[in-house]
Amino acid sequence: MALIVHKYGGTSMGSPERIKSVAKRVAKWARAGHQMVVVPSAMSGETNRLLALAKEVQPAQMDAAAMRELDMIASTGEQVSVGLLALALQSEGLQAVSYAGWQVPIRTDSSYMKARIEQIDDVRVRGDLAAGKVVIITGFQGIDGSGSITTLGRGGSDTSAVAVAAAMKADECLIYTDVDGVYTTDPRVVPEARRLHTVSFEEMLEMASLGSKVLQIRSVEFAGKYRVPLRVLSSFTPWDIAIDEEASSGTLITFEEDEKMEKAVVSGIAFSRDEAKFTVVGVPDRPGVAYQILGAVADANIDVDVIVQNVSHDGRTDLSFTVPRGDYQRTMDLMQSKVLPATGAAQVMGDPKICKVSIVGIGMKSHVGVASKMFRTLSEEGINIQMITTSEIKTSVVIDEKYMELAVRSLHRAFDLESPAVAG
Ligand code: ASP
Ligand code: MG
Repeated sequence: MALIVHKYGGTSMGSPERIKSVAKRVAKWARAGHQMVVVPSAMSGETNRLLALAKEVQPAQMDAAAMRELDMIASTGEQVSVGLLALALQSEGLQAVSYAGWQVPIRTDSSYMKARIEQIDDVRVRGDLAAGKVVIITGFQGIDGSGSITTLGRGGSDTSAVAVAAAMKADECLIYTDVDGVYTTDPRVVPEARRLHTVSFEEMLEMASLGSKVLQIRSVEFAGKYRVPLRVLSSFTPWDIAIDEEASSGTLITFEEDEKMEKAVVSGIAFSRDEAKFTVVGVPDRPGVAYQILGAVADANIDVDVIVQNVSHDGRTDLSFTVPRGDYQRTMDLMQSKVLPATGAAQVMGDPKICKVSIVGIGMKSHVGVASKMFRTLSEEGINIQMITTSEIKTSVVIDEKYMELAVRSLHRAFDLESPAVAG
């Protein structure tokens, strides 16, 4: 008997029919003798609907008091889901009980809309499991020190599930979603993309932070910190497939660098369109200016990603950086109103039509020439690279958005990531 956490995304919970199918699947695992904790998202589209409602009445300036209310509203989608799933499980003849985050409780800090989980009390859940119940816990939400409901950021149910699995020391956390695992790249861009049977935690972390939308990045961080065995698999297989087959499907996130694992130098190509670039031109080259520019951005709670500073000429330099595209206007306003006057820089140029394409692979640690192969491939396609950034296991380039698909496709081919030809 094992303690298993299942997480179901919005599409898997999208209709009463789908919820019934989730209930049947969970019941299958429970009847096989496992203790089951389930963490569902809101029904698909629900969080968007709730936030759109809020938008119609919200003040122009969103302060902490207003953000608190957004969390109050957005968190309700998950509360409906858990109740529906508990009822569906009861219809299956199982004992099931649902809890909102505050009832567990799942304690978070107070950064509304992107709260971090600080602690989860497992006493109540353990009691229910011992009594033979399936426990269903809302994803995406928690409660802060002052008793306010918080949410964990879009896609946060992944993190809830992994955090619950960590707190309960679960044997495995299975993330059921609308794709059947982690792919070498997005199959919508490259139809030949291949599912990875295993991916290392480090690679997954890079892929999640580089724009692969399969898992919320914080869930991967959590899994790494607490070594939670994590698997991404499809919720669209028939619910009654053999449990062993289901338990070994999808993609397993591994923690050891196992030599026997599929060892491609590059495991995947990640990309993100949600980026914008700024260049501050003619910045006086003196200690503290990078801090003056990027510190101002950080103070506005805007995440800076790629940063490039040029060598200086005549005591002046250019500094470029990228931010999430949604923060483009805010960053531009900040540059013009604060940073230009404070630094004496000549001008600021913004470009919201860029994207970032990255190659990721643990094998890059021990192989040379991987980045240069990436640059050669892009140059053969006539794609101009605007910025480059590297870490031990990834190389990212910033390019014009209009070349994104071409870049991803040609890199996928160049690094031999396509499905192996079907053997006869
Ligand atoms: N329902 C939330 C969202 O749409 C959380 C989640 O689905 O993971 O972002
Ligand atoms: Mg998701």
